[in-house]
Amino acid sequence: MSQSDQLLRFLFRERDVRGEVVKVAESLAHMLQNHDYPLPIKQLLAELVAATSLLTATLKFEGDIAVQLQGDGPIRFAAVNGNHRQELRGVVRMQKEISGDSFRELIGEGYLLVTITPTQGERYQGIIPLTGDSLTTTLEAYFAQSEQLPTRLYLHTDFSAEQSQAAGMLLQVLPVDPEKAREDFQHVVALADTLTAHELLTLPAEESLFRLFHQEVVELFEAQPIRFVCGCSREKCATAIVSLGKNAIAEHIAEGKLEISCEYCNTTYVFDAEQLTELSSNF
Ligand SMILES: [Zn+2]
Repeated sequence: MSQSDQLLRFLFRERDVRGEVVKVAESLAHMLQNHDYPLPIKQLLAELVAATSLLTATLKFEGDIAVQLQGDGPIRFAAVNGNHRQELRGVVRMQKEISGDSFRELIGEGYLLVTITPTQGERYQGIIPLTGDSLTTTLEAYFAQSEQLPTRLYLHTDFSAEQSQAAGMLLQVLPVDPEKAREDFQHVVALADTLTAHELLTLPAEESLFRLFHQEVVELFEAQPIRFVCGCSREKCATAIVSLGKNAIAEHIAEGKLEISCEYCNTTYVFDAEQLTELSSNF
């Protein structure tokens, strides 16, 4: 398996802490390839991809997760959707020119929304206002509020090389013995803090973990591959057109065609008058 585009979960056998390391490159390149995002937007989306993968792996069931940022800054909306198969897609909507590249200069005042939709069961949504000046601190605040489990996140991106990439690590207390867990957590975080962005981005995940935790007993689980999967299709567009109703379709037939663009992958689906008439005959 390639070293990038995978998520590796691990567990400290003698400490009440679990962890994950994620690296994305190819899937990120696929996500970005049909968009003309400025560099700060690419960096934020890349962080959001790494973070969503890490969050997806904290799910204890099959389902989807959506991590969204909403604000009054240049970025009105940024979201990455993922699922338990580590299939991810992302989108950014702009509303004005970028005037700075820090997290809050991009988003402004706003919220982080995390929506968890199990394949079976109740949907859960957590919302927190943006306070800090990074996605990392925002997500740590989300974990403190929603799971009440101390969680440390590291997110790094690199767009200097030919290939775009992002890497992240998550450390989280296990809800067993709070006192022991707190000490264990402080210990592994102190070790993890010594890893540089360059190391996390360039070293194989196993090697990063060995450098940090070679004096610990660390159990590694099987790495899970990460893919960019949009999920759009001509069939889904056709279903959406039919749902518009006969009158609305008639207007598009009069215009000669209807174009639907997918905002995740930028594919445009064109339906000409003949095809629209055909869809309209479903009524
Ligand atoms: Zn698409």
